[in-house]
Amino acid sequence: METFDYVVVGAGLAGAATACQLTAAGKRRVLVLERESGPGVHSSGRNAAMVRQVVADPVVAELSRRGARYIAEETPCWKNPPEFARHGSLLLGSGEDFARFGPALEACRAEGVEVRELGPREAVALHPLLEGAAFEQALYTPSDGWVDVRALLDGYLAEARRGGAVVWADAALSGVQRRPPGGFVLETSKGKIGAGVLVNAAGAWAEEVARLAGAPAAGLAPHRRHLFDTAPVSGVEYGWPFVWHLGEEVYFRPNGTGLMLCPCDEDPFPPGDPQAVPEAEVLLREKLGRAVPRLAEAPVVSGRAGLRVLAPGGRSVVGWDPALEGFFWVAGLGGHGVTASGAIGQVAARLLTGGKDPLEKALAPGRGERPRRGAMESAQDA
Ligand SMILES: Cc1cc2nc3c(=O)[nH]c(=O)nc-3n(C[C@H](O)[C@H](O)[C@H](O)COP(=O)(O)OP(=O)(O)OC[C@H]3O[C@@H](n4cnc5c(N)ncnc54)[C@H](O)[C@@H]3O)c2cc1C
Repeated sequence: METFDYVVVGAGLAGAATACQLTAAGKRRVLVLERESGPGVHSSGRNAAMVRQVVADPVVAELSRRGARYIAEETPCWKNPPEFARHGSLLLGSGEDFARFGPALEACRAEGVEVRELGPREAVALHPLLEGAAFEQALYTPSDGWVDVRALLDGYLAEARRGGAVVWADAALSGVQRRPPGGFVLETSKGKIGAGVLVNAAGAWAEEVARLAGAPAAGLAPHRRHLFDTAPVSGVEYGWPFVWHLGEEVYFRPNGTGLMLCPCDEDPFPPGDPQAVPEAEVLLREKLGRAVPRLAEAPVVSGRAGLRVLAPGGRSVVGWDPALEGFFWVAGLGGHGVTASGAIGQVAARLLTGGKDPLEKALAPGRGERPRRGAMESAQDA
């Protein structure tokens, strides 16, 4: 039976970034198992690809700043670096909408991440489609933007392979047995394998993988969210920032000469392959009608849905399971998995290799009371 020191379940951003950092830390016997015929079929291939650093929760905010730095500073060394369109972000709202961002702003400024407070006129100058939009002020973060997420995911996996990891596609984990004195025997669609450590990076299926292994639930809950693309929209410039209207919770960004738009819907949904439903476009138009009336009739040509996996308190779950030796979680990345993946991979690899990270306690699976299955909270992210 072939045996690996680390078997990572899931070749989404969580699993790929973890494998990449494990090999960067010198670990060679790493296997990534992916049930689909390739990586990024689920959430990691169905997102808005935005990198946003001003986030209310201090832990998610720190991961987001570290993650943005990672994409800007580490990935350019890769053989095929992902394009990072740092065209900025505009968060729009009224005074009370911004109250929760105080600590995030302080942390950004302390780390040299520029965030400017703008009035409506200055925001419209940066993004002319905001003429007539309903907001009193804006936060402008010039170093935010969006990334070529396919290249980011492929890059993590390429780096992992370069470091000695193996990635198996069409390889589903279907059973887990303990292997005395330590480790696991895994049943997969490619046969039995041995694992010293089992890393659960199975996205919407993370609770299912935990059940297979006999680990208690972490309270992760998949929620469906839609994205819509428009035909070309007159005057749209690719270099404009992305816009997030905090009062209505609706966002959009340039996408070629058109726009990508999101109604920030958040419906509990079982693990799987959600299809777009027409009600989501109705919600999008209602929200845009109140927030940015010029876009209420946006020429939408296609829509799609994906799953954001929300964890208790809105923070990812990264760390050793306190109840099952050798079982490690990298899950519940919510709506910040693109932004934070590089940082999450680093935290995971540090803890997996016996190191420490200042965020260890805040992300630990056993933090506080172990929640009931399904308990969750949104961190109001993408
Ligand atoms: C509409 C939408 C918009 C978003 N926009 C943004 C954004 O702008 N910015 C941002 O930072 N984040 C965004 N996100 C969030 C981001 O996409 C996710 O946080 C991230 O993709 C989660 O990655 P993951 O690896 O945990 O999950 P996934 O990508 O779902 O990967 C999990 C993988 O595990 C595999 N798997 C599951 N079970 C098994 C098994 N038993 N055996 C083998 N393989 C298995 C699955 O096939 C899957 O490929 C968005 C998400 C959505 C849905």
